[in-house]
Formats: sequence, C-alpha cells, structure tokens
Amino acid sequence: MATYRAAIANVDCQYYRACRRFLQSLKLPEDAFRSDTKFDMCFCTTCRDSRGDLPVYTRGRPPKLYTLPFGWVRFALNVLTTDAKGVKIDSDYHRAFRGVHPNGVFEILQSRRLFSPVVTTNLEEEKQNSEKAKKTCVTPSIRYATQDIYSVPEWWNDNETGVSYEARMVFQVWIRPGSYTIGPQTIGANYKVDRHFTNDELVWTTTNQDDVIPYGLLIQLTALPS
Ligand SMILES: [Zn+2]
Repeated sequence: MATYRAAIANVDCQYYRACRRFLQSLKLPEDAFRSDTKFDMCFCTTCRDSRGDLPVYTRGRPPKLYTLPFGWVRFALNVLTTDAKGVKIDSDYHRAFRGVHPNGVFEILQSRRLFSPVVTTNLEEEKQNSEKAKKTCVTPSIRYATQDIYSVPEWWNDNETGVSYEARMVFQVWIRPGSYTIGPQTIGANYKVDRHFTNDELVWTTTNQDDVIPYGLLIQLTALPS
C-alpha cells in the first residue's frame, strides 16, 4: 500500500476558510499552531480529489494502516518531529485520532498531551475511572473518533456568511509503535463502525501519555438548514 505523500500547497477553498474562521472564533493559544499555513490540509471533496488522495494509506515503522480524515480540515500544530531518542516521528510513528469535547481543546493544546479521562457508556468501567485516567486511548478510525461521546458537536454561526453549522473537533496524533495495546470498541456498537477496521481493533491504549503526540487539530463543519 502506498505511503501518503500529498503535495504541500497553500490551502484555499471556501470550506477551509470557514473552518479557519471557526478556529479563530475559539481564541485558542496562537503559538500552539504553526505560524504558516503550508502544513494545513483540507480534506473536502474538492481538495482531496484535486490531490488524488486515497482513503487509506500506511505509515510508521512497522507500517500500520491509517485513514485520511475525509471531510475535515487539519490545522497543523507547532510540534517537534523528532522524539527524545532522535526518532523521526513523522515517518516512524503510527497515526490515530482522538475526538474531543470543545471545552477540552485549550488544555490539550497548552499541555501538548492528551490527558482527559476516558469517556465510556459502561457504568462498570466508570467505577474504574481512577485507573482509566492514567491511560490514553486513541483510535485509528476517524469514524470512531467522531462518535458524539468523543467529538461533542457544538453549534456555530459564521458571521461572515450567516450560515449556521454543527462543528466538531478531533485531534490527529502520532503514537509510538509498540507503546500501545489494541482493543475493541467500547461504545456498544452492534454494527461495523468503520469499513477499514474490525470493531475489535478500534481502541489503542497506552499508559504513557508521552507516547501520544497531537500534531493536528481537525475541524468538521456541517451546515444546518437555515
Ligand atoms: Zn477544501
């Protein structure tokens, strides 16, 4: 399977610009993002088709399947691309997603780590929350990350166009190969959540937060009927 090598170009489409206005409305710490926009990436239908993106690629050492976040815009975070041991994170780590509540984005950007407790619908698991809080869970599936309990939607009105949207956010992360275990979904789904993965491989868990590095904030806007 091919390795993703998208041409780096300045993104400029209506959808990207609307997502950027939403991002600016959040008043997040500016230094968390790269000062230039050349590593931002729009995965709207027009932009992805113009690049010829495939939905699935492999990345990392050893290679691992990962899906492109079609329908989302990635705003690149200001992060190092080598780890403490000099490993090239961008090419050698695996890639995954983590849906976030809008109120949790600021702290994650400031700490540059995912740390919020795991959300679960299982009451028995809730009781073990102190244990769970030490763990960090991500998913290789953008569809799984977009479940409402992870990527909590919020309403946003674009003052420039008057259009109202349902807005969602997901962090795209690098995760160190070998640092995590692979487990089943925990949302009680009785359907196949993502056609690229079985339901038994949707949750990747690590006990060391330093092995998971957010490198992009993904934004998705869905226009609401006016
Ligand atoms: Zn686009």
